[in-house]
Amino acid sequence: MTRVFGIDFGTTNSSVAYLEQGKPRVVLDKERYKLVPSVVYFYEKADNVRVMVGRAAKSKYVENPFCTIHSIKRFIGKSFDSEDVKVAQDKYYYIIDRDPQAKSHEMDILVRINELDLGATPVDIAAYIFRYLKQMAENFSKEPMEDVVITMPTSQKTRYSTAIKQLCEKIGVNLVGTLDETMASAYAFGYMNKGEHTIAVYDLGGGTFDFSVLRRVPGGYEELATLGDNWLGGDDFDHAVVQYLLKYFQISTKNRSFPGGNRYKDGILITDKDVLRAIKTEAEKSKIALSETQQTLIHVSQVIKEIDPKSDMDVKLSRDLLEYLESELIERTITLALDTIENARTLDPKVKLDALLLVGGQARMPKIKHRLQQVFGDIIYDQILPEEGVAIGAAIYGHLLAAAKQKGGAAIGA
Ligand code: AMP
Repeated sequence: MTRVFGIDFGTTNSSVAYLEQGKPRVVLDKERYKLVPSVVYFYEKADNVRVMVGRAAKSKYVENPFCTIHSIKRFIGKSFDSEDVKVAQDKYYYIIDRDPQAKSHEMDILVRINELDLGATPVDIAAYIFRYLKQMAENFSKEPMEDVVITMPTSQKTRYSTAIKQLCEKIGVNLVGTLDETMASAYAFGYMNKGEHTIAVYDLGGGTFDFSVLRRVPGGYEELATLGDNWLGGDDFDHAVVQYLLKYFQISTKNRSFPGGNRYKDGILITDKDVLRAIKTEAEKSKIALSETQQTLIHVSQVIKEIDPKSDMDVKLSRDLLEYLESELIERTITLALDTIENARTLDPKVKLDALLLVGGQARMPKIKHRLQQVFGDIIYDQILPEEGVAIGAAIYGHLLAAAKQKGGAAIGA
């Protein structure tokens, strides 16, 4: 039977999985990382435009954010007039424009990299990420990537799938199926747990949050309810830490004397964008570290270089404090989760959850698991890692499609 690779193309990170002798395997890169940051960095070398993808590209963000394109998934299959473009234009450094050569107004976004006099569509940019994933999967599995299943966000499905088809043509792979990200997680669960069940998926990634209630039915899953927030994710968790660090720095510099006799009565306002990006990068690192440890040190050099070259930021951050800083965001996800369950119960008042799946990098935060346990009881399923479930589910779905095809087109069963 042909091998089908499942691709989780995420706003923040992407990954690939496949089945080997019935067992899911998540592809690792040369350095044994399974997540590839969905970031493309454009640069010039010997008069040619070159690209970097993944971790190397992400590391260029502090240095040159105008050429470091992240979160491109948000614009796949979207129009320049969409709300997402307006929000992103306020938040992102790179330039999002209307593509004068677009064939349709429904998909007319162009990312401009003025420094290199370059314009690229979201599909062009995503293609760099997919080529990278393809190479990585082929190196790891020692097989060519021919057939793929790609997961999709729950909204904008029609235009998104048109764009994804274009993308697959560009990189020369055969798209055998697409499925919702939440549905993919459910397939991963269903592969390991037989019988009837109703589950919920709590999916908190870098930029978006989704909560869905799904019931096993013959041949797959039925979605009873789903709610989400397209602008709630790990980035907001980072932002909360950044705000704290800025406040801390401001208070600690208040009324301090600096070389040259400068005295600042009300502390320092940091307006240097390079420094702010460095603080954001450190905030994210410390947030991730605090999922494992109780305390971490944050260091940013020369925060107010022009005033004091020795103005480093050194802050100790504890897990308790992080949890306090993030509590409002966590509660927003809980409220949405409870509303989703209420919606599911209007369809079927007897809905009872058998398991709760955690998906997305930000869901690795221990406090989130703890809060969900308090609210929903002891039903969290932890046999699937939050960052692996979607790619594994896509691989399982692909495997089931291939098996059904081999049997002569029989309906697939989860
Ligand atoms: P995803 O889009 O699912 O890859 O999630 C990316 C988000 O998860 C980013 O905001 C990361 O900072 C965050 N993240 C990744 N790993 C962890 C972790 N161990 N603890 C907390 N947040 C994490």
